[in-house]
Amino acid sequence: MTADLRGIGMTSQRARDRLVAQIRKMGVDSELVLNLIGTTPRHLFVDEALASRAYENNALPIGLGQTISQPYIVAVMTAALINNGKIVKALEIGAGCGYQSVILAKVAETVYSIERIGALASKLRNRLHQLHVNNVRVRHGDGTLGWEKNAPYDAILVAAAAVGIPSALTDQLALGGRLVIPVGRPGDQKLMLLTKTANGLEEQILELVSFVPMVGGIT
Ligand code: SAH
Repeated sequence: MTADLRGIGMTSQRARDRLVAQIRKMGVDSELVLNLIGTTPRHLFVDEALASRAYENNALPIGLGQTISQPYIVAVMTAALINNGKIVKALEIGAGCGYQSVILAKVAETVYSIERIGALASKLRNRLHQLHVNNVRVRHGDGTLGWEKNAPYDAILVAAAAVGIPSALTDQLALGGRLVIPVGRPGDQKLMLLTKTANGLEEQILELVSFVPMVGGIT
């Protein structure tokens, strides 16, 4: 591993271990997920000026009005999706800088990831290449429509808040599949876990959250 990936000082393994301890204390008990948070170089997903804050348990700006999600929330969403089954195909809506994509790529065979902002999508492709992550397919598109061609998905993760759950996403979920999505308006959002069963969708509220809004169309 290069020094860049390992990090030094505020981006060192010690800083990452402190973050993991915090997330564990907040209630995440999946050792697999905690290990992924502890080994993913989050400082490489933000601007250099913010690298020293990459292992604080906070969302940070990534430009263009968007954010990298709080590590605790990334852990909660990932843990909710893996449960104990194997994820063959995962769909991610709102790739942003790709921090969550890279973590998902460790628990799913293939990740299909959609981002509506073209500049972020192309930056992400370069970053994935740099990190040698080759099981994430990035699409510059509108995630409210899902990605029909590869459906059904065992897991769908949405990283932007929807006022209503897009029906394309529940349609593209496999039987037994899980969808995690923040739902609601700014200041009043809930992170929901939906499981598709033979009798319909089962819903569970995981957390109160604050995500950037889901926006239709591309730019
Ligand atoms: N997953 C990121 C967080 C990204 S922030 C992480 O790992 O930290 C949410 C992202 O969702 C933004 O980049 C935003 O552009 C994107 N987004 C919002 N609406 C979208 C839509 N309809 N389709 C695809 N991406 C969308």
